[in-house]
Amino acid sequence: MSSGHALATDPAMQDEFNPFLSMARGFNTAADHLGLDEGIRDVLQQPDRELKVTMPVRMDDGTVKVFTGYRIQHNTLRGPCKGGIRFAPDVNPDEVRALSAWMTWKCSVVNIPFGGGKGGVICDPRTMSTGELERLTRAYTIAIMDILGPDRDVPAPDMNTGEQTMAWIMDTYSMHARSTTTAIVTGKPLSIGGSLGRREATGRGVMISANEALKMIGMRPENTRVVVQGSGNVGGIGAQLLHQEGYRIVSISDMYGCIHNTHGLDVPAVLLHLRENGRLDGFREAEHLPNTEQLDLDCDLLVPAATENQITSKNANTIKPKLIVEGANGPTTAVASDILTDRGIVVVPDILANAGGVTVSYFEWVQDRMGYFWTEEIVNSRLEQIMVQSFAEVSTTAKKYDVCLRTAAYIVAIDRVATVYRMRGLFS
Ligand code: NAD
Repeated sequence: MSSGHALATDPAMQDEFNPFLSMARGFNTAADHLGLDEGIRDVLQQPDRELKVTMPVRMDDGTVKVFTGYRIQHNTLRGPCKGGIRFAPDVNPDEVRALSAWMTWKCSVVNIPFGGGKGGVICDPRTMSTGELERLTRAYTIAIMDILGPDRDVPAPDMNTGEQTMAWIMDTYSMHARSTTTAIVTGKPLSIGGSLGRREATGRGVMISANEALKMIGMRPENTRVVVQGSGNVGGIGAQLLHQEGYRIVSISDMYGCIHNTHGLDVPAVLLHLRENGRLDGFREAEHLPNTEQLDLDCDLLVPAATENQITSKNANTIKPKLIVEGANGPTTAVASDILTDRGIVVVPDILANAGGVTVSYFEWVQDRMGYFWTEEIVNSRLEQIMVQSFAEVSTTAKKYDVCLRTAAYIVAIDRVATVYRMRGLFS
């Protein structure tokens, strides 16, 4: 299997790799089942607003470099936009557009009062110093702050951004607003209004989704061999929590390669090695393989938790899991999704499986606005309640319409947003 990004350069696969087209295909399949009329379809498919910004940043060597960024707000019918900010060299408008729409459906599928948005900055954080990243983050915040606000658009971390990035955004916004506005972003450090449990929330949601899916298909964690793609916030923490639940993690990867041990990896030792060395390379108790071989490994559960377009028409026919729980956003192309359904492979889709992060982001926003903070036990038990209930609603819908879990999740999500649209009516 080739990596998604290598295939993305193949002109024959451009459409398959366009995440916005993948999102539109999932949306339209669900909209057909719902009998959604054309007008509502048009409204719900297009983003409400797209902002492209250019930001001059002084680099450490004294030169000025101009960066490009985006903030796309897909829909605000159910509440303020919610969605992460990604720093990566291959950020592009179609990707941000798709990710912002997925946020609308994700917030709706777990029934939290947010719409969807997403941001991205084209940059390579690996080549930038902390000072350069701080200046870029502050410049980006100033460039998009007219459309931000605790009641308008509340960003969060995504690939290559984290608690420190959120702290810089919160500070920049607050300095301009002339008051400390903690609820402007989520995924902040605890000391400035973050929530207990937020760091682990997406991985915890993945673990809860895997548990629910296993019950549905009659399997047990101790008999489940797991391949996890990615070892960052979602993959690393997801692997750790699955390991604690008794799953056997046989492979995990980072952007440089994967490690594999059929007897099961000592996940805490792997994560310690990663923290100390910055990469999986050199971990002793496992064989090392190139990433191109990871998804072909024997396993029962595959957790893609790295990036988009990893399961495609090129490998969907040959990968071996019985179950896929999508930690990443858009890891499966729409074409591959149909192939997996035909093969009887159960896929817990991204908009459900990785919704733990946005759910605890919602808890963080609520706590910031109340100025009253919850214990980790309360956060985790409320998260579990929402994830289990959402999973049940999606699987009931799948049975009712005789569709896969992905289409069912879209049906649940779109129906909720369309209902609000009909109730609110058209303001014009
Ligand atoms: P991260 O930056 O913390 O980690 C990304 C991981 O993927 C790293 O281990 C990196 O080395 C690895 N990676 C990158 N390219 C790879 C490749 N081709 N093969 C194997 N590994 C590769 O990012 P994250 O926050 O864990 O996000 C991962 C995915 O989950 C993204 O799709 C993101 O949109 C999605 N997501 C994140 C959250 C969240 O709360 N962080 C919530 C929902 C969805």
